[in-house]
Order: sequence, then structure tokens, then C-alpha cells
Amino acid sequence: MKLSRYNILKKIGDTTIFFNAATCAMAIVDENFMRVVEDVKNNSYDEKKYSTELISDMKSSGCLTVDDADELQRLEFYRNLSKYDMTNFSLTIAPTLDCNFRCKYCFETHPKGVMSEETQSALIEFVKNRLDVAKKFTVTWYGGEPLLTKEIIYSLSEKFLELCAKNSVEYDAFIITNASLMDDADVENFKHYKIGGAQITIDGPKEIHDSRRRSISDESTFDKLIDRVNVLLNNGLRVIVRINVDKENINYVDDLLLTLRARIEKFSELAIDFGQVSTFTDICRSVESDCYSNEQYADVMLPLYEKINAYGFSTNKMSVYPAPRTNFCCVDYANSFVVDNHGYLYRCWNHVGNFAKSHGNVRDFDDKEPTSNYLSWIEWNPIRHSKCCDCKIFPICAGGCPDAMRNSADGQPVCGTIKYNLDKVLEYYFEQLKEGVEQ
Ligand code: SF4
Ligand code: SF4
Ligand code: SF4
Repeated sequence: MKLSRYNILKKIGDTTIFFNAATCAMAIVDENFMRVVEDVKNNSYDEKKYSTELISDMKSSGCLTVDDADELQRLEFYRNLSKYDMTNFSLTIAPTLDCNFRCKYCFETHPKGVMSEETQSALIEFVKNRLDVAKKFTVTWYGGEPLLTKEIIYSLSEKFLELCAKNSVEYDAFIITNASLMDDADVENFKHYKIGGAQITIDGPKEIHDSRRRSISDESTFDKLIDRVNVLLNNGLRVIVRINVDKENINYVDDLLLTLRARIEKFSELAIDFGQVSTFTDICRSVESDCYSNEQYADVMLPLYEKINAYGFSTNKMSVYPAPRTNFCCVDYANSFVVDNHGYLYRCWNHVGNFAKSHGNVRDFDDKEPTSNYLSWIEWNPIRHSKCCDCKIFPICAGGCPDAMRNSADGQPVCGTIKYNLDKVLEYYFEQLKEGVEQ
């Protein structure tokens, strides 16, 4: 046996904790565990000397692995399995890029126009052709503000559901919306058309939210959003309240969490997520000075999640615990696409509406003759960078945001926040683990 290259041992006071980045197993370990580790290092490992249970745990946690294991090769194998898995088909659809908000950090331009009937038909054909092999089809409604085009969403959903039923394909949908246009009929339609949940961004208490996420009519939207969160949760739908954080609003997060706790009836079922405000395009350059770098964000992020757990938003308990990931995001999944209202296809969510970055159109994209732009994203591979190959946390980072790497001055992978705060994250969960052991 040999030790995994992804083992991390960390001393906290008198206690040693073990974490393996390939399995994300974490444990408080004792001298018997350390003895095995030392024996392996000194080539004196002899399985008969240790308890069967300990060795079994050390193997299943990923700490010990077989001598001929090449863990990077394994990661590459699993990465390829998920990347080229055509049984999972996912679309992020922006039926319009127009929006009734003008958030100060928005990276989109909001051209007028909605998906035409002709483009809808082409999109349905595109979907139909992919359901022959797909077993699961997932749609995320996106924009602009998708609820500006409710009829299109429900009409396409109807067709997608029919096609999935005909092909025995599992269907699931989700919506990212500013929620200002959502009425009770929409909530019923969400249930009918299998839109199982919504992400709604609220950026702070009323005044802060309304100043950052301005509606074009300059009306306050805060109270309406709180009401919509209640209605969705009370109807059994999932809700993620997203709080986009930068230096301007970070000090108002407590206020917002207290308000949510007071005003959301089923607050313990509400998931809260934080987004790091970034300047993806020149359109949002004006907020650049308020943005955190990944390194700075790593410092402020954990206390934010600690707050939401402390306030009792219980769905979030494990939200910062690292998870093994084969790919950083959807960008290099062969069967995952972002579609705009003209039918243009993109790899990255942040490119939607930027035709120059499109890799085809639903009318003509052909798997047998993929475009080089498409392939350049699919073939993106952090393993080609020694920085990632040698990285102890490669299995939980998977090379960082591919678009950030493309935009970086040195063309190197850009490390995600976990690179900078893993120590603190482990300490945080150690406290929880310790409490569990002590109880
Ligand atoms: S609601 Fe979304 S799409 Fe609309 S301006 Fe705000 S961030 Fe942009
Ligand atoms: S490439 Fe980066 S910005 Fe684009 S979808 Fe992936 S994580 Fe998001
Ligand atoms: S991007 Fe940075 S943190 Fe991520 S795997 Fe590569 S070197 Fe590690």
C-alpha cells in the first residue's frame, strides 16, 4: 500500500485531523493511524500488525491506496467519464437578455428581443435529437430576466415534458430570476412544468438591496421578493436566496439574515448562497474597486456561512465543506449548453449574448462536426498545468474557472477560494466533528 498524494494532516492543539482531497473524508486520528502512516513512509507497512477495521477505514477514506495507483490518471479517467457522458443533457436557456432591473454589477447589456417562434422550433428540434441517448434532461431558465417571457418558458416546458415522456427521459428544471414579475399563477405553473426551484438574489436589507438591484422603474422590489420566497417555500418549491457580496454590502449581511429569519415563515428550509461579485465584462467595470479578489474573498466567506448556520438556516450546514469534483463547471461537459434567444450556443454562462464567443447555433450545431471553438473548451484540461498536477487540492478544485484562466495575464489556472481557506474550513468542521464525538 502507499499513501495518497491527496492526504492532508493538520495539527489543531493536541489533536491531529486527517483530510483526503480525493474522497473528502475527514477524521480525528490517533496514534494507531499515525503509526500506519509512518510505517508506510518507512517501507515497514505490514497489514497483519494493525486492526482490520483501521486499515479498512484508511482504505475507504482514500488515505491508503494500492501501490500501482496513479491518482492523477484516475482523476483524468473520472473527469472524462463525466465530461463525455451523453446520457446527461443540460441546457441553460435565456429566452431573452432583456431585464427589468439594472443591477450595478450586471455584466449583460440587455438588448430588447425575445426568442422567436422559429428559434423555439429550432431549439425543440435540437433537444429532440439529443434525447435519443439522454436519460436525464435538465433545464435552467436564465436571462436577462426569464419571467419577461413567461409564455415562452411554459410553452417550451410543455414540449420538453412531452418529448421526455415519449423518450422515457427524466426531466428537471430550475429558474434563476429576480422574482419581481412572479405572480401566484407562476408558482402553479412552476409546479405544473416541473420547475422545482428558484434562485432569487437579495443583496441586503431593503435600502441596500433596492440601491444595488435597481428596477428600471426605480420602485422598491424588496418586499415583493420576500413575499415570493414565502409563497414558493409554502408551495414546496426549493428556494436559494443568493446574496452577491462585495465590499459595499458585506457589513449588511447580518441585517439581511435577521430580516429573512423574521419574515420567511419556513426559514429553516431556505437555502442561502453567497456570490462573489466579479467584473466579467467592461459593462460592470464600475464596481471593480468594490470586488474582492479570490484570496480576499476566501477570508470573508467562511464567517458568512458560519452566520447562516448560526441563524438556523439549516439546509446550509455542509455548504462550505469541500466536495470532490471532476470538472470545475459545465463549460467542458460535452452535452451541456447555454442558449440565447437567437439560438446561439455558448459554453460559459458569462458569454451569453456575446455572439463572438458562441460556438454554434441550435440550427446547425452538429456533434459529428463540432466547431473548433466548442472543442477548445471541451478539451480544456488543468492536468496540463504543472501547478494543478502538483496541487494537493486538485480533486476539490479541478483547476479553477476556465474562463478566468483564459483571461488571466499569464494564461495559468486561477486558484479558487478553497486554495486560500481550506485550513480554516477544516478547522471549522473539526469543531463540529468534535462536538459530534463529544455528544
Ligand atoms: S436581475 Fe440579473 S440580468 Fe437583470 S440586471 Fe440584475 S443581474 Fe442583470
Ligand atoms: S467558465 Fe467560469 S464563469 Fe464560465 S460558467 Fe464556468 S465557472 Fe462560470
Ligand atoms: S487552480 Fe490552483 S487550487 Fe486549483 S487545482 Fe490548480 S493549482 Fe490547485
